[in-house]
Amino acid sequence: MTHPEDKPHRAFMPTPDGHRWEGVEHKPYKEDERALFKDISRQTLFSRPDIAGELRYFEVAPGGHSTLERHEHVHAVLILRGGGQALVGDRVVALLQNDLVTVPPMTWHQFRAGPDVPLGFLCMVDAQRDKPQLPTENDLESLKADAVIAKFLA
Ligand code: MN
Repeated sequence: MTHPEDKPHRAFMPTPDGHRWEGVEHKPYKEDERALFKDISRQTLFSRPDIAGELRYFEVAPGGHSTLERHEHVHAVLILRGGGQALVGDRVVALLQNDLVTVPPMTWHQFRAGPDVPLGFLCMVDAQRDKPQLPTENDLESLKADAVIAKFLA
């Protein structure tokens, strides 16, 4: 994990396929076999026992998305790169660089990159957090009752 004592400065190292930081483990783009998520990579930037939170950087390749989920813990998200759309509760919002998104407790959420642009974002969470819940068929049906959400999830 990243400890400033170990290395107080980690240089930003952009690569053709995304944002990177010196010495930070990069978990490459992956797809879930159940198609829960697609083309999303993850880097934990800060995680220390003396801070009760973690700061992660996620990047979604064009056309990719995060898992549709909900949980008790909250997310504070800052869009750093590219753009796309997010479902937060019953709203679909456009995401542009530097936008802030707050995901409250037990709120369905999913982040999608645009068709031609990646979506890179910082996400702050509790270090101690509950496991995400996935939607049941009934949950999905309720969500898709809204035409805008149905289009977003399609
Ligand atoms: Mn989440």
